[in-house]
Amino acid sequence: MADVQEVQVDDRVQLRKPHPCGSDIWVVYRIGADIGLRCSACQRRVLLTRREFNKRAKRLLRGAL
Ligand SMILES: [Zn+2]
Repeated sequence: MADVQEVQVDDRVQLRKPHPCGSDIWVVYRIGADIGLRCSACQRRVLLTRREFNKRAKRLLRGAL
């Protein structure tokens, strides 16, 4: 379970549901009122509210991969 309070830019996060491109690993590129995530495979960017992020994030992969 990822805790949004602990997330830092450049952390990798595994989401519960994979992106249509097949990857479920996203890289945090922005932290503010919203959390910015970039898909590690197709580079697509999304913004999630902190609440959505907490709901969708499965695991924080700091320093892994
Ligand atoms: Zn993708």
